[in-house]
Amino acid sequence: MSTTVQNVIKKFGSYQALHRINLSIQEGEFLAILGPSGCGKTTLLRLLAGFESPTDGSILLDGIEVANAKTATPPEQRNVSMVFQSFALWPHMNVKEHIQFPLQHHRFADKAMKQDANQRIQEVLEIVNLTNFSDRMPGELSGGQKQRVSLARAIAPKPKLLLMDEPLSNLDAELRMEMRREIQNLHQLTKASIVYVTHDQGEALAMADRIVVMNNGEIEQIGTPEEIYYHPETPFVAKFVGKANLFEGSWEGDSFTLKHSNVKWKDWGISNKLKEKSIYPLRPEQITLSRKEHGELTGTIKTKQFQGRDYHYSVAVNDQVIIGHIPLSKPFEVGENVSVIPIEG
Ligand code: ATP
Repeated sequence: MSTTVQNVIKKFGSYQALHRINLSIQEGEFLAILGPSGCGKTTLLRLLAGFESPTDGSILLDGIEVANAKTATPPEQRNVSMVFQSFALWPHMNVKEHIQFPLQHHRFADKAMKQDANQRIQEVLEIVNLTNFSDRMPGELSGGQKQRVSLARAIAPKPKLLLMDEPLSNLDAELRMEMRREIQNLHQLTKASIVYVTHDQGEALAMADRIVVMNNGEIEQIGTPEEIYYHPETPFVAKFVGKANLFEGSWEGDSFTLKHSNVKWKDWGISNKLKEKSIYPLRPEQITLSRKEHGELTGTIKTKQFQGRDYHYSVAVNDQVIIGHIPLSKPFEVGENVSVIPIEG
């Protein structure tokens, strides 16, 4: 379903968690809300679910206002399901009962689904690969299986909007990668709109159609993963998403002069908004290091990490520490003096 957040402010007492948020989510879209801890991601998701009400502004689902400062439609009356980081399973119910519950109680589960709940349960068990686990209790399941049950419970009544609050953060690294693919499959199968909260930029970049980057209760940038990664519009987005090194200096047309030096670098497609802030961003993989004096930016290797495909170096340059990911063919040692050169400059 289409979702619109209009001028939403959320205060907890005197603390303002959200500052006038405006956002629209298209029908069938997979939208990630990405940001550091405490930036307001969960609060925004809880407002969409109906667990919180806005202090000001309004929320519309399929064009119908479901919440404003005065009234709010309760969660069970929105065609929305939520998946939690903690799985939130009921200890006394087996897998099948978890899936059955929303079929009986969800206002939007249609008659056919209620009458033939067993068929829907089987369908959903197949989708989440738990066909042989229907009688297991939560205590008899692994973390990944528990999260699959919570996904199954959420999709069973065919909600039009699926809200996910860091659903993979309690799983180990390998399982997280596998579950990313499963959630993508689930999105294709259900065609529900998904709003997916995460602080992991890898997850957001990998899965979302669009990413909303939040910081301090405000939206910093909205865009496709490629736009956010290649064309960050604020220093925060450049650092948080691309782990970019940010250099200060001055722009003149397409030429950047580093602060306190004569070093000049060329534009590689940097957004005008960053240029207006007199910043030149370079992601670690956009840097090359050289032993030769290039009369450019020089520094000293502080740390070296072998990563299989490349080495990750930290280099002390003036009062800044720069991170570079350099292919294996060029090993440097800690203590070496190097020139730092942009690949695309
Ligand atoms: P995390 O990734 O750590 O879950 P988040 O981005 O989801 O963080 P929120 O949980 O939305 O952040 O919280 C945003 C801010 O609002 C935080 O400073 C938090 O302490 C505050 N906050 C959230 N809920 C409440 C509440 N019920 N009462 C008071 N303050 C709250």
